[in-house]
Amino acid sequence: MTIKPPSSELRHGLRALATACAALLIGSTAHAQNLDVTTSFSILGDLVTQVGGERVKVHTLVGADEDAHAFQPRPSDARSVGGATLVVVNGLGFDDWMVRLARSGGYKGEVVVASAGIDTLGMTKDDHGHDHGHHHEEANGKAVDPHAWQDVGNVRRYIANIADALAKADPAGATAYRANAERYDGELQALDAEIRATFEALPAERRKVVSSHAAFGYFGRAYGVRFLSPVGVSNNAEPTAQGVARLIRQLKAENVPAVFIENVADPRLIERIRSESGARVGGTLYSDALSKADGPAPNYLQMMRANLDTLRNALSGGS
Ligand code: ZN
Repeated sequence: MTIKPPSSELRHGLRALATACAALLIGSTAHAQNLDVTTSFSILGDLVTQVGGERVKVHTLVGADEDAHAFQPRPSDARSVGGATLVVVNGLGFDDWMVRLARSGGYKGEVVVASAGIDTLGMTKDDHGHDHGHHHEEANGKAVDPHAWQDVGNVRRYIANIADALAKADPAGATAYRANAERYDGELQALDAEIRATFEALPAERRKVVSSHAAFGYFGRAYGVRFLSPVGVSNNAEPTAQGVARLIRQLKAENVPAVFIENVADPRLIERIRSESGARVGGTLYSDALSKADGPAPNYLQMMRANLDTLRNALSGGS
């Protein structure tokens, strides 16, 4: 019995098939997304994407221009968070609902707190006295401001924490995550220096701002700008009439150059403050969410530069 050698057509066909299989294997390895990461809000989603690169698929619950303070999860959100390989939150009481959601959805892994290790900013009673929102209380009873991402120095810590967490969850990608984090950290340092230089060039008496809710405490501390707001650290609280009247008096007494709308807040309150105080509306600040992809703040770096441009234009011009 003899085995007939395969015809040249067949040999050619087999070789082509083998090549195709190899390409498919290589292709699937190169494009595999090793981690499914779920994050709470758009700014954090961007930071995880910057570190994760192509290895990580990021799912974000509270999207562009949406308010995470007022987020109402749907049952499908619990299932989606429960199925994540890794859950990353801001912490500091901003997105505690995410931790509850992950657990109720069956998530058993570690919940990574991106803000871990930052120098937190407490709120004095005066800053949030009328705030009925669900901000975090520290052990000493002092409320903590969760908006830590508004200080670029803090975000450098976020990036280091995210890189550590991704490397732990996906050790094969550790080198890539560290390289991405290092590259991005360079961009953060440049941004931080740019913001600092901009405000140092402005006279101190012009570095005063009114915005909807107290989202810029960390920004103010880092860059020497005084922020006043009618609403406390949690955006879904109603300001009192006395609180608004007091703010308007303060605004006039201190010659605050401009008031600002926020992308996540109802503009009517700021409009009322503007009409009663005579201050100018300086534009829209991005506080707790990115803009949509075609807006001026589709990622963290662009968001901070958009806010910087808006503040610089409003505060440096004549009043
Ligand atoms: Zn907020």
